[in-house]
Amino acid sequence: MPELPEIESLRQMLARSLVGRTIRHTMVKEARLRRSVSAELASTIVGHRIERIERRAKYLLIEVAGGQVMLVHLGMSGSLTHRGRDFDPGPFDPKHDHVEFALDDGSVLVYNDPRRFGLIKVVAVASIGEVDELKHLGPEPLASEFSTNYLWLATRGRTAAIKNLLMDQGIVAGIGNIYASEILFRAGVRPTRRGGKVTRAETSRLVRATEQVLHEAIGSRGTTFRSYRDSRGQPGRFAQSLRVYDRAGLPCVKCGTLIHAVTLGQRSSFYCPRCQK
Ligand SMILES: [Zn+2]
Repeated sequence: MPELPEIESLRQMLARSLVGRTIRHTMVKEARLRRSVSAELASTIVGHRIERIERRAKYLLIEVAGGQVMLVHLGMSGSLTHRGRDFDPGPFDPKHDHVEFALDDGSVLVYNDPRRFGLIKVVAVASIGEVDELKHLGPEPLASEFSTNYLWLATRGRTAAIKNLLMDQGIVAGIGNIYASEILFRAGVRPTRRGGKVTRAETSRLVRATEQVLHEAIGSRGTTFRSYRDSRGQPGRFAQSLRVYDRAGLPCVKCGTLIHAVTLGQRSSFYCPRCQK
């Protein structure tokens, strides 16, 4: 499942290739995603120029002239590719190309999603703060609001595992299983520790590790597990930089101790029993 770094690198690529283009036509071949794609999709965005592309948590916000913004979430297996004449559809099965946006230069933006857990909906820019999907989200992990003090206060008195708190979208938005594991490894904190027992010094290390891990992953265009592809259809390269995720039974890159796996909140978690206290 794509996490924040995948969506942020996708956003950067799409911003470079899409901003300034006008949407000429939309074609919804399959409206049944997580929620049905509205029949009004075309009437709200066709004929409008793409002004900017932002991101909030794992949502892409594609803003068009006229005050509308299209919210896109890739769900489990979605991809958004910008296809010119030379695009190689290699891994994309055309039967999962559910929504297409034809642009004024002849290129096409294609939403492909085999499992159909994604979301596409259009809202007014003015009401973006009240959208159900966004209104309960905590701060962005790369924003200054996500500080040591903020995370320290958010975890006091909490008995839940620190890893589950890092993945709680109301505490911090956009961190999922892969990056939570990597952040905890870099900070030297065991994923199973009760949130309220994490010290101030460890909290500071967690915030710093969050910034480092996410920046590195964005620079590598994210991690590719299964189906994630960027806007040109290419996989991300961060998988080779993962230090602990999916490495159960392999030696720790720092100390050589074998990495342990444990299930937390129905998700596999990985840690070094020596480096992570
Ligand atoms: Zn170790």
